[in-house]
Order: sequence, then structure tokens, then C-alpha cells
Amino acid sequence: MSNKHIVILSGDGIGPEIMAEGEKVLAAVNSKFKLGLSWEHQLLGGCAIDAHGVPLPDVTLDAARKAQAVLLAAVGGPKWDAIERSIRPERGLLKIRSELNLFANLRPAILYPQLASASSLKPEIVAGLDILIVRELTGGIYFGQPRGVRTLENGERQGYNTDVYSESEIRRIAHVAFQLAMQRNRKVCSIDKANVLEVTELWKEVTTEVGKEYPEVQLSHMYVDNAAMQLVRNPKQFDVIVTGNLFGDILSDEAAMLTGSIGMLPSASLDQSKKGMYEPCHGSAPDIAGKGVANPLATILSVAMMLRYTFNEEAAARAIEVAVGKVLDQELRTPDIYTEGTKKVGTKEMGDAVVAAL
Ligand code: NAD
Repeated sequence: MSNKHIVILSGDGIGPEIMAEGEKVLAAVNSKFKLGLSWEHQLLGGCAIDAHGVPLPDVTLDAARKAQAVLLAAVGGPKWDAIERSIRPERGLLKIRSELNLFANLRPAILYPQLASASSLKPEIVAGLDILIVRELTGGIYFGQPRGVRTLENGERQGYNTDVYSESEIRRIAHVAFQLAMQRNRKVCSIDKANVLEVTELWKEVTTEVGKEYPEVQLSHMYVDNAAMQLVRNPKQFDVIVTGNLFGDILSDEAAMLTGSIGMLPSASLDQSKKGMYEPCHGSAPDIAGKGVANPLATILSVAMMLRYTFNEEAAARAIEVAVGKVLDQELRTPDIYTEGTKKVGTKEMGDAVVAAL
């Protein structure tokens, strides 16, 4: 195994179809840029349940631990919906994320100008949009204790959760955001609700302290309610947004919708040493699985993110993104991004076109 090793998890549904195209592009850049990358395939999700009875077999987890990056398509589907909750496909996904300690979730919202008409917002508001949401993924209210539903003395039930962040958790995600901003337009907007939530008051204080270590980066703070408005009013004001688990979950989906197509959006989840898991934002799309029509571009763009963030191969990453732009210029469109007057193509033709453009 080389020290630039990748574990590929094709998963379920459209997963194997879109990953085949992602792998083609990976092989093409690997030879063109002499990257020296190697990779192997393992099972995760429903396919792993079928083969081993569990969604995350030890062999997959061991391989993922040893590799520098994991490339995942998507898991799940109706075939496994009725099985016991603790061994459903999604459990495998949550487990691999926590086992690998992937605390930084990077969700870019990029709108290729060629697809501006796919957005529900006016083209002039979103064309050329390029923002990066950095969401803390392993802390906050989704994991905080105590949590539960209790019965009060008067017999009424009460649900409760705890939003908790320690200074070190805030500090490490803030560093990730500032370092990423240094590679981009050098602006970080930290999102909080510091006027009402003490936990985010600390969040604001600590991000401000960390910001002093990055004098070239302009730091601003925004309340989450205002951020939700600004994302639809004037999204291009943002470069990097950093926020906690709950606000990040909501804002990253809102930002994704600005771009119009879920089939175009990659994501990354990183650990302290920039080891990462890279995957499209969408699911396994069982409704179109096996039809050869799924959009492979989110997976192909996930390969680009992997080259940039884990392997520091900016030129190769950029080449993939430029190739995707060229294919869109040629007006090739899978059905999910098709508009009248463009050329409808299938999954494989789209992947082949990206390789040709490379
Ligand atoms: P989904 O993202 O799979 O599909 C939503 C809609 O978007 C569908 O109409 C689908 O056809 C379309 N779509 C998704 N990806 C596309 C692509 N690449 N090209 C063209 N169209 C695409 O979400 P869902 O339907 O809610 O979930 C389906 C399954 O996926 C479920 O089992 C769910 O648990 C799983 N899921 C997995 C992940 C993951 O692996 N990270 C994420 C979300 C959902």
C-alpha cells in the first residue's frame, strides 16, 4: 500500500454507477498528474449487510483507518428499510464518521454559471456563487448530555437536549475554517446566536481569539436568523461560513438549495490531520438506480475535493473542476439538470465527457 491510499465505498442504489465514473476520473488525473495514488474497494451499507450481516464490517473499518482518504458514493434503500434499526445502512455511515473522528464537515455551495437557471433564485443573485460552509460535526446539541424525554411531577412529558461546546472543540474547527479561508478569499463569517445562547457566546469569543492568529483573514460574526436571510438575499457576500452542528446542518441544506441541483454537490469530512471522507451530498436515489441516468458530477467533484484537502494536489483538483465546467459549456446534461435546448446524456456519457475534457 502506498502512503497515498484511498478506500472506495460504492455503496447502494446509484452508488456503483456514479462511483464508476468517479473512479474513471480519479484514474485519469492519477496518470496525467503522476499523483502516485492507489485505491481499493470495500463494502459499506446495504451491500455490506447482504454480504456480512452488518453495515460496517471490520475489514472495511480497518481499511478506512489505514487509508489517507475514503471516497463514498451513497448507502441505503428500501430493501434494508425494514431491518432492525441498529444494523441499518445509515448506521454504518454514522459509525465510520465517528470512528474516524471526522469533526469538520465541509459543504461547498458552488453554482456553475451554466446552471444558474436551475436555481429558484434570480440568476444575478446566484450565478458564480462559491461559498464553503464549515460545520462542526461531532459536538453540540446532537451529542450533548443530558438528553431525553422525562415525565414531570404534574404528569406532563418534557423533552430536553443540551447544546455544549468545549473551548478546544471550537478552537479546532475555527482553525480549519481560517486555514481554508487562506486558500480562498480570506473571509470567515462565524454564525452564532450569542444574544440568547451562552454556548454560542463562548463560540464567538473563541473564534475571535483564533482569528487573531490569522491577521490576513477578515472575520465577521452573524446571528443565525440573519444568516438564514442573508443566504437567500445576497449569498455571494460569503466566502467561508463556520458554525456548530445544529446551525450548520440547516444552513448547509439551505445553501445547497441555492444551487438548484443536489446531483452537483460534493462534501468532505475531515479529522485533525486532514484525513477525510469525501462523498456527494445526495443519497442513493433508489428511484433512478440501475437506469444509467444519475448525475455523477457530485461524486466526480468529491474526487476533486479529496485531491485538494487530503492530498494537497491543487492543480489536479482544479483540472477536474475545470473539466466539469467544460462539459457544462458543451451543454451536456443528465436529466436532473436538463433544460430545453441542452443535450441530455446518461451517467456514463457524462463521466466519459469529463475524462475527455481532462
Ligand atoms: P436522495 O438524495 O437519494 O434522492 C432525492 C431525490 O434526488 C430523488 O428524486 C433522486 O432521484 C434525486 N437524486 C439524488 N441524487 C441524484 C443524482 N446523483 N442524480 C440525479 N438525481 C439524483 O434522497 P432520499 O430519496 O431521501 O433517500 C434515498 C436513500 O438514500 C435512503 O435510503 C436514504 O436513507 C439514503 N441516503 C443516504 C445518504 C448517504 O449515503 N450519505 C444521504 C441521504 C440519503
